[in-house]
Amino acid sequence: MSDLTFEIQRNPNPKPDAEREAILENPVFGANLTDHQVVVTWEKDKGWHSAQVVPYGPILMDPSAAVLHYGQEIFEGIKAYRHADGSIWTFRPTANAERLQRSARRMALPEVPVEVFVESLRKLIEVDHAWVPQPVNEKTLYFRPFEIAAENFLGVRAAHRAEYRVIASPVGPYFTGGVKPVSIWIALDSARAGRHGTGEAKTGGNYAASLQAQNEGYENGCSQVMFLDAESATYIEELGGMNLFFVYSDGHVATPALDGTILHGITRDSVVTLLRDRGHEVQERKITLDEVRDGVKHGHITEIFACGTAAVITPIGQLKSRVETIGDADPAPGELTVSLREELTGIQYGTVEDRHNWMVKLR
Ligand SMILES: *Cc1c(COP(=O)(O)O)cnc(C)c1O
Repeated sequence: MSDLTFEIQRNPNPKPDAEREAILENPVFGANLTDHQVVVTWEKDKGWHSAQVVPYGPILMDPSAAVLHYGQEIFEGIKAYRHADGSIWTFRPTANAERLQRSARRMALPEVPVEVFVESLRKLIEVDHAWVPQPVNEKTLYFRPFEIAAENFLGVRAAHRAEYRVIASPVGPYFTGGVKPVSIWIALDSARAGRHGTGEAKTGGNYAASLQAQNEGYENGCSQVMFLDAESATYIEELGGMNLFFVYSDGHVATPALDGTILHGITRDSVVTLLRDRGHEVQERKITLDEVRDGVKHGHITEIFACGTAAVITPIGQLKSRVETIGDADPAPGELTVSLREELTGIQYGTVEDRHNWMVKLR
């Protein structure tokens, strides 16, 4: 199964150097894709087969393809970092591969072997390495591995045919305007995940479920949405695509425990490790909105930040809902938030020692 060898079909019409360089000057998140993509096919009776790197282009899909109707889809987000010597690295790819497998199990899709996942990134870099930007202004190449149910059948059951693909997009900072605190909209009228639902799976449906609240957030000047637990709307869970941390004045840090409805962020896990390395106590537990409201008001909570691969670590300013506003409008980014961010991006760009062997060389 994992002796899949990738066949490479080079794009006969890659983007001209000058056009690519112009894109790399100022990449907009997700707006431009590289010259190639990975495709690996799975069929119920054959398993994984036909591993290929082919020219980037549309997917020819039958309108009855299962993914278009029942949302059987999962994805990952992981980056390639260029180091000062020109080499290209990625961050904890085995963790992403294993998470894709867990998402696959939850969504009744086939599991991509870990080695195939890591090799797929390596092969894409082999042909698209020129798309990995120079290590300035937080530029990276963002990989979007994903899996879709590709059987043409309207019956409701797990598809008998699936595709694993990887596309890649050069990116700059996720939030334009540098590292400054973002305002968060607290969703009181919608939830993203319920007990035994799909909150732990990285699946498109969770994002679709978050967009109505995101629109509401935009209308209220907020760029991200915080979701509370679906049952009681009491406990803080996470943002639509980032995990949350709260820094207390006595030096301890708290983050919502992974209790089944929260995505297991690899940035979250890395931040917990870096904090413990520095001697901070990290509590993974239930955190109520009441605790945060009081903590901010009385100065017990001194910093709030969100984290994920796309935006790394982002300071949070105000929390707003239709009934209240918590915190100051334009606080300076917290000290711990900024220094953790520098440490993590330093490890990723190869300028800070990688004590935990998180970096894997792709080229
Ligand atoms: C991807 C994602 C995260 C962040 O995970 P990382 O592995 O750190 O990128 C957090 N929450 C949700 C809902 C996500 O989909």
